[in-house]
Amino acid sequence: MIPVPHYNTRAVAVLGLGRSGMATARALKAGGATPVCWDDNENSLSAAEEEGFLIANLHSEQVWSEHSFAALILSPGIPHLYPAPNPIVKLAWKYAVPVDNDVGLFLTAIGELPEQQLGDEPEFVDVPTIVCITGSNGKSTVTALVHHICQQAGRHVQMGGNIGRGVLDLAPPGEQEIYVLELSSYQTELASMLTCDIGAFLNFSPDHFDRHGGQGGYFSAKRRLFEFAASAVIGIDQDEGFFLHSVLLDHDVEYRDEDRVSAVTDNRDYCVGKSRVVVAPDHLVVELQAGRQEKVDLTGLANLRGAHNRQNCAIAFAICHKLELPAKTILAGIKTFRGLPHRMEQVGQLGKVVFVNDSKATNVDATAKSLDAFKNIYWIAGGQAKEGGLDKLKDYIPNIKKAFLIGEGADVLARLLGQELPFERSDTLQKALEQAAIEAAALGEEAVVLLAPACASFDQFPSFEHRGDAFRAQVLALINKDI
Ligand code: ADP
Repeated sequence: MIPVPHYNTRAVAVLGLGRSGMATARALKAGGATPVCWDDNENSLSAAEEEGFLIANLHSEQVWSEHSFAALILSPGIPHLYPAPNPIVKLAWKYAVPVDNDVGLFLTAIGELPEQQLGDEPEFVDVPTIVCITGSNGKSTVTALVHHICQQAGRHVQMGGNIGRGVLDLAPPGEQEIYVLELSSYQTELASMLTCDIGAFLNFSPDHFDRHGGQGGYFSAKRRLFEFAASAVIGIDQDEGFFLHSVLLDHDVEYRDEDRVSAVTDNRDYCVGKSRVVVAPDHLVVELQAGRQEKVDLTGLANLRGAHNRQNCAIAFAICHKLELPAKTILAGIKTFRGLPHRMEQVGQLGKVVFVNDSKATNVDATAKSLDAFKNIYWIAGGQAKEGGLDKLKDYIPNIKKAFLIGEGADVLARLLGQELPFERSDTLQKALEQAAIEAAALGEEAVVLLAPACASFDQFPSFEHRGDAFRAQVLALINKDI
């Protein structure tokens, strides 16, 4: 745990007592503050109470006038502005109490470390390196990949944030520690502090419109990170990234530090300065300073299939390059990465049919990448449909043999694809899998049963992880039955 010292002796309101909220309460307490906790969920409240935390109903104005809170710390799942601010957030505004999140606390606490450690030899204070990764798709993959590469290279490294442990749950920094943090737009929009050594922007596609008041709000939330990042790696294949890259370039050419901002692109023709990584079909071309080029061979990466994963490798490469790891070491790390569950995870094979779990493909762009990576697809899709047109999926119809539609989104998908693609209304995941497996086997050629829903999971499952776990278990049961 990273203790948060700067609210020492003060009361701090903590709203939301899930994974990050509980870590926040512990970190505040360890730093000498008194966290005053609330969650609308009874079970979370009792868990916090059992751990000895002070509970008070933050909906009550009396609590606010009694406590004179130094801050309100919000969990990422709780809206701070759109579609409507949580009523407790409005109370914080009314009582002029700053609203922050665990990322803001973490980065402030890390920034204050040198002061805490100042002893007789202040020049030897060892400040950790912070890498923050944001984007619409691929954040977890890149975060885990960078973590893995650094680990393999023998560096002290920890990862957290939106993946794995909450940031305040991470261990205090060891010698030359690297923290690799996955940050969502909810986190970058609110954090009071975002200072980091390397910020990475992977890509941009429509998502989370409700929480950011539309596409512009979503982009601004992500862009905020780069007001504070000392150096940056930017995926420039969408206009948002291309724009951001251009804004970040230091236009004072004489002093331009070419290596401060790196671009990652699919397009060889972009003249975006020397420091860039170009994604090619089986390799990366890395443009280093002083006109040097390096070619990194990516053939045969079974755990990082598809063009989007080459982009992820390119971003990870550029980040690790900034961390001063040699190309050879980075490549060795990429080659030994095992991939993450629910992201194009191959969960089984029966004869010529491979079963792939991409339950994390909850938006159009992620789904498109999956549909682009395979042929002869028996596609399981649907769930809770999101805003932001599904039209783009039509481009991949040639790769799909048939769709098996589930959940609430079945109607929308049927209307969109029905004219051009055979489909079945399977309703449930189990039924869709059974039908898809039979038809895929009947093809007699190599085929893929792919769960890439293009929708959220919440109509039928508590989370995309539950949906992916259910799919994996059903596939394994099917395979065992057959054997
Ligand atoms: P995030 O943490 O941003 O949600 P993940 O690494 O968990 O990203 O991947 C989410 C989904 O996006 C998966 O379906 C995955 O296959 C897909 N995906 C991964 N990387 C990319 C990328 N660079 N571009 C588009 N889609 C991607």
